[in-house]
Amino acid sequence: MPMKRYDIVPAPSTVRYGEGKSVFSAVVVERDGFEERYFAQTLAPGNVRVVRAGEESGQTLFVAAREDRSMPDEAYSLAVKGGRAEIVFGKRGLLYAYVTLSQILAQSDGAVTDAEIEDRPYCGYRGLMLDSARYFIPADDVRKIADLCVMHKLNAIHMHLTDDQGWRLESDAYPRLHRVGSRRSHTNFGCRPHEGYYTKAEMRSILRYCAERNIEVVPEIDMPGHMRAALAAYPELGCFGRKLPVATHSGVKHDILCAGKDEVYSFVFRVLDEVAELFRGYTRYIHIGGDEAPKMRWDICPACRRKAKEEGLKDSEQLQGFFMKKVAEHVCGLGFAPVVWNEKCMEGFMPEQTVWQYWHTDGGMDEKGTAATAAAGGGMINSDSAYAYVDLPYGTISLEKSYKFTPKLPGMPEEKALGGELELWGEYIPDYKTLLKRCLPRSCALAERMWSGTDGDYAGFAKRSVAFVSYLSSKGYDGEKRKAVYDPSALRGSLQKLWFERRQLHWEGLHNLIDDAKVKKQHGTEGSAAGD
Ligand SMILES: [Zn+2]
Repeated sequence: MPMKRYDIVPAPSTVRYGEGKSVFSAVVVERDGFEERYFAQTLAPGNVRVVRAGEESGQTLFVAAREDRSMPDEAYSLAVKGGRAEIVFGKRGLLYAYVTLSQILAQSDGAVTDAEIEDRPYCGYRGLMLDSARYFIPADDVRKIADLCVMHKLNAIHMHLTDDQGWRLESDAYPRLHRVGSRRSHTNFGCRPHEGYYTKAEMRSILRYCAERNIEVVPEIDMPGHMRAALAAYPELGCFGRKLPVATHSGVKHDILCAGKDEVYSFVFRVLDEVAELFRGYTRYIHIGGDEAPKMRWDICPACRRKAKEEGLKDSEQLQGFFMKKVAEHVCGLGFAPVVWNEKCMEGFMPEQTVWQYWHTDGGMDEKGTAATAAAGGGMINSDSAYAYVDLPYGTISLEKSYKFTPKLPGMPEEKALGGELELWGEYIPDYKTLLKRCLPRSCALAERMWSGTDGDYAGFAKRSVAFVSYLSSKGYDGEKRKAVYDPSALRGSLQKLWFERRQLHWEGLHNLIDDAKVKKQHGTEGSAAGD
C-alpha cells in the first residue's frame, strides 16, 4: 500500500516523505507552554488524545520542540519518524508547527507517515479585515475568528471600528461616540434597530487573546469620510453642524468631518490618543482610513475654504491631503505607523512612515502608482478588491479567482511589500454564520497565497483544500461547501451578482441629490463670500 501523503493548506515550503510510519494511540507533548495547551484544546482533531509527558500509556507519538533563534521569526521545521515528532521553531513559529501537525493528525487515522517539513511564510503581514462598524461583531465571535486566523496561519486582524453606520469603540473623552454613535434606528435589511460597541475592557481582552495567538490587531478609525456615526453624536464636527442620524443604509455619505475647524483636529487627536493607549504593544499600526470622502460640503464651507487658502492648497482634494498628513503625523508622534487606503488625494502629502493599503483603481491610485508611492514610504499592504474582497458574491470573485491573488506586486522592493489582507466588509454580513459562508473557502486560497507564495496551481490547491475544509468544519467553521456556488457557472455567477446588486438599490442616491441642493441653497453663499 502506498504511504499516506498529507494535504496541507497553506502548502508548506517543502515536504519530504520517508518510508516508515509511526503508529500511535495518543500524542504526548514534552513542553508545557501556551502553544501545547492550545494544541491540545483547540487545534488537535477531536479523535486525537493529547497528553502531557508522564501521563502516556500504550503507543505514543512523542512531540519535542525547541527554539532556534537563528531561524526566521515565524519559521518552523517538523520531522516525524520512529514515534517522535521533532519541532524546531523561530521566535513565533511554534504555533504554526502545531497547526500543520494538527492537519496531519486529522488525516492520519492512528499512523503517521515519516515526513520532514520545512516551512516559513512568504508575506510578513497576513491579515483579515473585520467590519464591526456595519454590524457589530461581538467579542466572542471575534475570538472565534482569531482561532480561525491561526488555523489559516494569518497573523493580523484589521478592525474597521468606525463608519457611517456605527461607532464601535468606547471613548472616555467623547462618550457620545459610543452612546449615540453605536446605534442605528434600522438597517438595510430587516428594518430592525442595531447597536453595539466594545468597552475598553472587552477590547483589551480581545487584544490579549489575539496576542497569545501571534495576531496583531490593527484598529481603524476611518476619516474624514465615513463619519456619520460620529457626526450624529457631535454634529458640530461637521461643516454646518447639521443634526443627522447614524446612517441606516450603505453608500458613500456626503456629510464628513470639517477640515477647517480646530476643534475637529483636537477631536481626532484625542480619539487617536485613546486608541494608541489601548492598542499599544498589540500592533505597530493605526489605520486612519482616508477613503471615499466626497467634497461637496468642503467646497462651500467657509471654515474649509479659509483653511485651504491659509495653507496655500489648490482645492478640497488637496485639503484632504493636508488633513490626512496632520493626522498621520500625530499617529507617528504616538509611535505607530499610519495606514491609509490608496486615494490619490493623499499622494505627496503623507509622512514617509505611511503604509498604503491598495484596494482599488477607481478614483484612487492604480496598482503601479500605489506600489511606487508605497515603496518610497512605509510599504504596502495589498487587498486588491478584485481578488481579496470576500464579502462580494462568488459570481464576482470565485474561489478560483481568489487563488490568483498576488500579495506582493512585481517590482516592489521586498522590505516594502509587507503582505496582503482579505476584506470582509459588513453591510451584507449581518451575522457570524453569513460571515463564515462568505469567508470560507476563499480565505483558504488567499491565506495560501500569503503564506506559501504565488507558485501554486489552482488544481493542486483545490485538491488539498478538501481535507482542510473538512478539518475546519470539524472545528465548527462551516463555510460555503457547494462547488456550484463558490466556483459558479457563468449563468449562476451572473445571477449571484444580480441578486447582490439588486439589494444595493434604494432611495439614498436620490435623497443625497435633494439634500445636497438643500445644503447648497442654505450655505452656498457663505462659502463663496469667505473664499473670495
Ligand atoms: Zn468645513
